[in-house]
Amino acid sequence: MGNERLVVIGGDAAGMSAASQARRRRGADDLEIVVVERGRWSSYSACGIPYLVSGAVDGFDALIARSPEEHRKRGIDLRMGVEAEGIDRDRREITVRDLASGRTDRIGFDHLVLAMGAVPIRPPLPGIDAPGVHGVQNLEDARVLIDYLRPDQRRAVVIGGGYIGVEMAEALIRHGLEVTVVDRSAQPMSTLDPDMGALVHEAMEGMGIDVVTETEVVAIEVVDGRASAVLTADGRYPADVVVLGLGVRPNTALARDAGLPLGASGGLSTDLRMRVTADGIWAGGDCVEVLDLVSGRRRHVALGTHANKHGRVIGTNIGGDYATFPGVVGTAVSKVCDLEIGRTGLREKDAAASGFEFVTATIESTGRAGYYPGARSMTVKMIAERITGRVLGVQIVGRDGAAKRIDTAAVALTHRMTAEDMTSLDLGYAPPFSPVWDPILVAARKAAQKVAEGR
Ligand SMILES: Cc1cc2nc3c(=O)[nH]c(=O)nc-3n(C[C@H](O)[C@H](O)[C@H](O)COP(=O)(O)OP(=O)(O)OC[C@H]3O[C@@H](n4cnc5c(N)ncnc54)[C@H](O)[C@@H]3O)c2cc1C
Repeated sequence: MGNERLVVIGGDAAGMSAASQARRRRGADDLEIVVVERGRWSSYSACGIPYLVSGAVDGFDALIARSPEEHRKRGIDLRMGVEAEGIDRDRREITVRDLASGRTDRIGFDHLVLAMGAVPIRPPLPGIDAPGVHGVQNLEDARVLIDYLRPDQRRAVVIGGGYIGVEMAEALIRHGLEVTVVDRSAQPMSTLDPDMGALVHEAMEGMGIDVVTETEVVAIEVVDGRASAVLTADGRYPADVVVLGLGVRPNTALARDAGLPLGASGGLSTDLRMRVTADGIWAGGDCVEVLDLVSGRRRHVALGTHANKHGRVIGTNIGGDYATFPGVVGTAVSKVCDLEIGRTGLREKDAAASGFEFVTATIESTGRAGYYPGARSMTVKMIAERITGRVLGVQIVGRDGAAKRIDTAAVALTHRMTAEDMTSLDLGYAPPFSPVWDPILVAARKAAQKVAEGR
């Protein structure tokens, strides 16, 4: 039994990374680690769900990074099917319930890690709980959806055109369904500016996906006890299956009830070391808010890439070393069929809301030399601060290696580079990989020119 006990609530990306890092640094005789996870899976990749549903990834096991047994072998007391119900900060213990037996218990802690993830948004619409309406938040949701899909089903409606919505549209197309995506925004992928979202819209229509924008879902029509159509303010969209992709909010009810500090975004507030309180309460992943390094504001960004890093930082600190999570620039990539989407930094409306004056530059280029077989086009948009030329945001929509080009821009944003700085970046070139001027460099050149003209 250890001298100290670490208790983790939530056994996925943030929670298990924290537990594993702490275990690497402190042996079981020094630190006892207990993780409570209410679900059936731990350390799974929700990011893989669209590809599991599409069939591109074969079987649930492929999405499990480490099983509960493997964690236990490494000295982590992982308790599955156990839900945390309360946090008593004065007594330094949590209340838990075993979901199978209903038995409640208390577990004392020296360190407590809150890694409860996010809650999918599920508006209280008539029919929303009918069979045939599916969330895709976790592996159990994916299992229920996959079991529900039948060869005789013809139509699917995806509510929400964010990255999960468009990835699920692809998954359902691959099942041979006719897919409609319904979104209240002007364009799908509202994490992009509308002009870039319009390119996604057009491409999706070209793939045979019906995209209906600027419309509000008012109800799910239910016939014979199953979802049969999605009703919007403007029309009726028949559906044998409905998938919800409406985004998430931080899962902080437990923390709020315990009086822990929440930020304006609703996520838990932490310091740079991911501490919520100085006396051993930590938090990471989808339940926290993070500093946006471009705007200087705090935001809730629910991404696995951050959750893993937060967990690592927490585990390193609890393990007795020093680590910080400085913040994010807002980088994300996704795809729908062969169309790739990348974004980082601020959209025009974010830049304006933050008080920046800026210029924008949009260019079209190809992912490899124009003469090289298979060259396909991509559009790159760059937003740069007027006068200083600091790059504030980049968005890319296109094919053939478009999405991961955003990483170059993410590095530039992290290091507050100007568009002019970016024009001379020593990026790799050979005809199969890029034109001699990479699309990122072409966009930087145009943005730098606009900045210079505006001085
Ligand atoms: C379909 C889909 C696709 C995605 N694709 C990507 C992608 O491509 N790239 C990317 O970066 N991110 C992606 N994400 C987001 C990513 O999966 C999440 O950001 C990440 O899983 C967050 O990790 P987390 O540990 O904070 O929370 P979660 O993974 O949600 O884990 C939280 C865990 O806590 C448990 N829990 C909650 N409350 C309690 C309680 N009271 N007691 C006990 N256990 C509790 C839950 O059961 C859950 O297992 C995707 C998400 C989805 C749903």
